[in-house]
Amino acid sequence: MDSEFLEIKSKDDEVCKLGECGGSVTSILKYLLESKLVDKVLTIGKYDDIYDGVPVLIENPKDVNKTAGSLHCAPTMIGDLVSKFLNDFKVGVVVKPCDSMALNELEKRKRFDRDNLYIIGLNCGGTLMPHPAQKMFELFYDVNPEDILKEEIDKGQIIIELKDGTEKGVKIDDLEDKGWGRRENCQRCEIMIPRNTDLVCGNWGADDGWTFVEIITEKGKELIQAGIKAGVIESKSPKQEQIEKRAKLEKIMINLMKKFETKHLETEYPSLEEWDKYWNRCIECYGCRDVCPICWCRECEIEKLNKENHSKSPDPLTFQGVKLSHMSYSCINCGQCDDVCPMEIPLSKLFYKLQKKYRKKTGYNAGFGEELPPLYSPEME
Ligand SMILES: Cc1cc2nc3c(=O)[nH]c(=O)nc-3n(C[C@H](O)[C@H](O)[C@H](O)COP(=O)(O)OP(=O)(O)OC[C@H]3O[C@@H](n4cnc5c(N)ncnc54)[C@H](O)[C@@H]3O)c2cc1C
Ligand code: SF4
Ligand code: SF4
Ligand code: SF4
Repeated sequence: MDSEFLEIKSKDDEVCKLGECGGSVTSILKYLLESKLVDKVLTIGKYDDIYDGVPVLIENPKDVNKTAGSLHCAPTMIGDLVSKFLNDFKVGVVVKPCDSMALNELEKRKRFDRDNLYIIGLNCGGTLMPHPAQKMFELFYDVNPEDILKEEIDKGQIIIELKDGTEKGVKIDDLEDKGWGRRENCQRCEIMIPRNTDLVCGNWGADDGWTFVEIITEKGKELIQAGIKAGVIESKSPKQEQIEKRAKLEKIMINLMKKFETKHLETEYPSLEEWDKYWNRCIECYGCRDVCPICWCRECEIEKLNKENHSKSPDPLTFQGVKLSHMSYSCINCGQCDDVCPMEIPLSKLFYKLQKKYRKKTGYNAGFGEELPPLYSPEME
């Protein structure tokens, strides 16, 4: 279906207060559970504070409010949790573009039944690593990170709201020129509006207190219509200028992304000597493999190699070589491998660069469409 635009708002005052924009996502999730369209919803919530976003699985509609609001210092992904633990259930899941791409790659490999899912997308302009973000708030905002109630990315700034009700903002460009700001892979992320979902929610183009929604599938449309009919959300049509504003913001972000893509994958891409040094640093903890949402072999070939070598780990080059040959064509640039690497090896640059090369040669765009990559080997299953 052609996509359709709406502005949506929760009809529950408390949800409106807690929600990031119109509280629409929270109310839709509650409706999914109350109407028994799903058994569970999977989303991200605060554990200790805004720097500690964790996946939350909810069955009781009363618990959904606790997860309202956006966490930008929570790069946590939830794409692979569905395929690992939830494929026997009907689930409503909230996803950033990288999560939605991970889901798409796993769906192509039949790791879950798409009919069981309601996929609610969020626009995403980027996430920050929790610890560096706290340091950045100290250095550039001159505040105690513990005094920050909320953070958001808007109008080219990272804006914080403090406990005393005041706000402070610093231009993303100024922060990123000095090596702070969003995670590197977010800076070069190509997708800001995840149109491989059932519906996408965001603040771009929305009136204050409303969520701007792009409806993608019939399933998404039926869900919104059912929510309106049940009286949990209300809707209005956005004006043409709001639709254009949203498209303009998307375009600005795409242009910014291209600048970083060239910088990370070409001009500042590590040389072979630098990669050699990186591999010498690798302690073979396998963190990068464990966290990769699309490392899908049921039995890891690298572990098999280990057994054959009587537990002697393969050297880092062989280890990464096996991983590269298995999944680099499907790398979705989520950056989880960089995030967990204790030796600070910029793995996603290598994996993502290869996906981009593969895309150029074969047309295969990881995270989208229904076809598997052209050279995919089903034996790996
Ligand atoms: C990291 C991030 C960046 C964003 N960047 C933009 C942007 O540049 N432009 C834009 O238009 N919109 C962006 N959004 C979307 C926007 O902030 C709102 O989430 C969206 O408009 C829905 O608002 P709401 O009031 O309907 O949602 P709410 O009712 O407040 O519900 C928000 C839902 O998002 C979930 N959530 C919170 N943090 C995360 C996370 N890190 N990952 C996955 N799910 C999460 C919550 O658990 C909750 O279910 C971003 C959101 C996030 C999380
Ligand atoms: S990789 Fe893209 S979608 Fe994922 S958190 Fe970063 S900017 Fe958002
Ligand atoms: S290789 Fe790294 S960036 Fe690519 S999908 Fe896996 S974890 Fe994400
Ligand atoms: S996470 Fe880093 S140190 Fe650990 S195996 Fe991967 S590259 Fe090596």
